Amino acid sequence: ATIALENARRHGLPLKFYQQGNDEAYLRRLRLVDELGQVLERGGDQLYLVYQPKMDLMTNKVMAVEALTRWQHPDEGFISPDLFIELAEQSGLINRLTEWVFETVFLQLQTWQQARIDLEVAVNVAATSFSSPDFSYRLLNQLAASTQSREGSQRAPLSLELTERDILSNKEIGLANIDRLRNNGIKVAIDDYGLGESSLSQLKSLPVDELKLDKSFILNLDSSVRDQMIVKSTIQLAHDLNLKVVAEGVENKASLALLRAMGCDSIQGYYLCKPIVADEITRWMEQYAYLDHL
Ligand code: C2E
Ligand code: MG
Ligand code: MG
Ligand code: MG
Repeated sequence: ATIALENARRHGLPLKFYQQGNDEAYLRRLRLVDELGQVLERGGDQLYLVYQPKMDLMTNKVMAVEALTRWQHPDEGFISPDLFIELAEQSGLINRLTEWVFETVFLQLQTWQQARIDLEVAVNVAATSFSSPDFSYRLLNQLAASTQSREGSQRAPLSLELTERDILSNKEIGLANIDRLRNNGIKVAIDDYGLGESSLSQLKSLPVDELKLDKSFILNLDSSVRDQMIVKSTIQLAHDLNLKVVAEGVENKASLALLRAMGCDSIQGYYLCKPIVADEITRWMEQYAYLDHL
């Protein structure tokens, strides 16, 4: 335990982090933090991105995908992003991880542009990255550098997914970041909407483009009248506020039909497509350019 505490100090982890779990779980987390740091130092071997399509319900076309990070650990196998993102946030590795994600996304966008596949990519950004005032500057610099280095290529069509916690953990800085990003053509969506302490009055003051309804309201939409009522009125409210609405976690045809009837703008979920690697997305896009059969 003494060694664990030493390591915790070395990594700048808060003590509450230690007290939360038993020794074994704690030591595993420390080890993972250490290994994630090394992985990032080596340029992200063991990490890769998968992409999940988002279908526009007006056109039945896929115009965008969400990038999700995967960590394939050599001994432990697949480690959930819910765990390693949290560890990265607590240890301060998150900025380097976020930079790796954007770098990888920009390269992928270039490949898709060359193949004439028109896709916007959405990237998740964690609170600890977003609450830094220079987040937007660093991202815009990274974007400019990647556009410049590719002759004749267009600017990357990009959107960010943030939770309300991400934005509100420091509202002033969060809003300044959002302004700067949107002024530079980057869209902003609120992820996992409806979870936690989201409030309707908050929504009115958040200058974003899109609401992503949390999958906990969508997974059982076909059988839960209560979820149907919540989703229906949230869509209405969002539209009144000029926001687009995406539903995540659509797993069956019945839920898709309900969302269509409620005027939801787009959907994402296993029913349409699971998150898959970029090459598979390319093939999938060639095969399913139009999704009228859904
Ligand atoms: P999220 O942004 O809300 O992403 C949606 C999650 O739901 C993903 O889990 C996705 O695989 C899963 N999902 C998609 N469709 C369905 C469906 O129809 N049914 C069900 N049951 N699940 C579905 P995943 O990939 O495990 O990611 C979990 C969370 O980790 C993400 O939630 C996001 O908050 C975070 N995350 C993932 N990659 C990154 C990243 O690169 N950066 C940051 N900051 N966070 C990330
Ligand atoms: Mg997301
Ligand atoms: Mg999320
Ligand atoms: Mg979610």
